Amino acid sequence: MGTPPFALSGRRVFVAGHRGMAGSALVRRLTREGCEIITADRKTLDLRRQADTEHFFNREKPDIVIVAAARVGGIKANNDLPVDFLADNLAIELNTIRSSFDAGVRQLLFLGSTCIYPRLAQQPMGEDQLLTGPLEPTNEWYAVAKIAGIKLCQAYRRQYGVRYVSVMPTNLYGPGDNYHPEHSHVVAALIRRFHEAKVSGADSVTVWGTGTPRREFLYVDDFADACVHVLKNYDDEQILNIGVGKDISIAEFARTVATVVGFGGTLAFDLSKPDGTPRKLVDVTRLSELGWRASTRLKEGVALAYADFLRGRATTAA
Ligand code: GDP
Repeated sequence: MGTPPFALSGRRVFVAGHRGMAGSALVRRLTREGCEIITADRKTLDLRRQADTEHFFNREKPDIVIVAAARVGGIKANNDLPVDFLADNLAIELNTIRSSFDAGVRQLLFLGSTCIYPRLAQQPMGEDQLLTGPLEPTNEWYAVAKIAGIKLCQAYRRQYGVRYVSVMPTNLYGPGDNYHPEHSHVVAALIRRFHEAKVSGADSVTVWGTGTPRREFLYVDDFADACVHVLKNYDDEQILNIGVGKDISIAEFARTVATVVGFGGTLAFDLSKPDGTPRKLVDVTRLSELGWRASTRLKEGVALAYADFLRGRATTAA
């Protein structure tokens, strides 16, 4: 904290994971900042492969690296695919962070997740709660990999004095989300399910779990804006939460999605599906002190996300 703003204009920025929801929002935002964006398609560069990743970094020589590449998915995907979530993410992190350093990159932003905090962390969850208790079992594979990435950035800072920073976004949603019926996160899953129910004229929509867990949702373009703010103003070993500072129950959230989509039927809670962590609200005090706050209200963001979903449907159908 207290560091002078760091100019981003004209810098060569490699956004790893640019096709993902967070990565594509970061590309949009960094382009507006006047950065020269470097990307690599999964077909040409598999970040799980060490030699290919090293070669890419040595050739491209970026000034700044954003590690937005990850194997991601909702509560069911995490549970069903533990090897993919642990091994792929460890490989991606180690290869991108180490290759960045070896290629002379002095500034890097690593995207973590709030699932790194203990399952029963005090609410709101301050950054100092990392590694103070057991993780939520439904996503511990992903969480352990993300904790390793955080630690690797901290290790590089300590050993070599580089500006490697980790941010912990709360649950993100928005354009470019994954609408897979089972492996998506709750926002995309419910947008799709409510839309399909509306179109088919169904009376009821299934919502997983009891509806009582609470989540905090951040619109992805707000997140990208926060990342730019962090890149310019933050240089510290301590991880940094990025959220809105307000949460909502899944039941209440489902009703919001129903309203936005225009579904007038009832909700049916499927108790055979896991609830996951009871509550996940981040403490955004440190981010607020840096002078940043989210600007997109939940209902407005869900409407934008729904419009994106409809555009995707129209493109697929065309
Ligand atoms: P989490 O924040 O890591 O638990 O990720 P999710 O976005 O997958 O789930 C958030 C909460 O929404 C959990 O309590 C889920 O049980 C609940 N939920 C309700 N319906 C759905 C759904 O259709 N898909 C998903 N992924 N979660 C759902």
